[in-house]
Amino acid sequence: MEKIESGKTMKRNIVFFLSILVSLIFIGFQSTVHAAENQSTNEISQVDHSGWIQVKAPAHIPILMYHSISKGNSLRLPEKKFRAQMEWLKDHGYYTLSAKEAYLVLTRDIKPAKKVVWLTFDDGYSDNYEKAYPILKKYGMKATISVIGRSYGKENHMGKRQLSELHSNGFSIASHTIHHLDLDTMSANAQYKEMIDSKKWLDRLFHQNTILLCYPAGRYNSNTIAMAKKAGYLMAITTEPGSASRTEGLYSLHRIRITPGMSLEGFGRIVQQANE
Ligand SMILES: [Zn+2]
Repeated sequence: MEKIESGKTMKRNIVFFLSILVSLIFIGFQSTVHAAENQSTNEISQVDHSGWIQVKAPAHIPILMYHSISKGNSLRLPEKKFRAQMEWLKDHGYYTLSAKEAYLVLTRDIKPAKKVVWLTFDDGYSDNYEKAYPILKKYGMKATISVIGRSYGKENHMGKRQLSELHSNGFSIASHTIHHLDLDTMSANAQYKEMIDSKKWLDRLFHQNTILLCYPAGRYNSNTIAMAKKAGYLMAITTEPGSASRTEGLYSLHRIRITPGMSLEGFGRIVQQANE
């Protein structure tokens, strides 16, 4: 009798412990799912902005537009000139923003330093890694690279190795769509496909929530803005000139085109004015 009883008790205990174990596994699974869901929405709020200063609303920032760091045409900037500009920024106490930090500045009117600048590079050229990166690294600066899906890893363009290194050193990776087409000539659906395919690809590739879209050739229309929002981007950059603020819309942010003909004095003046 006693033996049967203890056998029953043991069975009951096993069932009890098994159910606890199953519950624990389930809770663990649930929290993993929730963690993944919240990750994208929390990413911005995870940026440590303690000690940032409040500025007059709406905050203005210079978003500098670079392409290739080389010679040859008006879109290319020689390395020497780029180096001089970065030295100027360093000497004048500028802080270089990440995409997430820029979002906080533009939406909350707070800045990590009095003088800030957002460096953006379009198209993902290899010379960004070979020429610009060593200079930026030396000065403790970071930038945002807008990557084109179809050019990724191709001749003269960065692939996984370079972009991953930049990413793990504080650089932001943004979308420049898959095919680099003029979005304003396309249907809303076709635009959306370019944007969502690119976002999913970059999200997966860099284990991130890609918050920034860079319109190819700066071309966009009202559909573009609606589709960018729908695809889950938090903001988009154009080629319209001027300092950036949320006044012109977070999906039509203005930028300052850096041309090889620009003098260093001119560069300094424009950056300074756009930050006020
Ligand atoms: Zn481009």
